[in-house]
Amino acid sequence: MLDFYPLENDQYTRINQFFGNLKEGHLTTTRCKRCAKLLWPPRIVCPKCLSDELEWVDLGTKGELYAFTEMRLGAPLGFVQDLPFCIGIVKIAGLLISTRIDNAKYDELKIGDKLDLKIVELEDGRAFYRFRKL
Ligand SMILES: [Zn+2]
Repeated sequence: MLDFYPLENDQYTRINQFFGNLKEGHLTTTRCKRCAKLLWPPRIVCPKCLSDELEWVDLGTKGELYAFTEMRLGAPLGFVQDLPFCIGIVKIAGLLISTRIDNAKYDELKIGDKLDLKIVELEDGRAFYRFRKL
């Protein structure tokens, strides 16, 4: 994966709490305190009303498969050794989130499958999210 900057650091991004929450096992995003819009990805300003008064919201761990495909070629640098793998869109807390899907091959997935959050710790100590088939 091309990774020129340690973007999870609070020196580089004001959504660094997202990554800190992931390390603690929570997939979170921001919600606008003024208009209550749930934002994905996490933001520092609400695109609907331009308020910067946002709060962190835990999205839970249970999602539903909304769309999916299998990546067979052209994976980003750092993922080539994992080919083939499934990617898709998961519906969680009313949001549609793109994600990698573990624990299932393409032929084993169907729209509506129940998926569970999976936190992946990278070798350098950072964390990211995926989902896995139950
Ligand atoms: Zn708003």
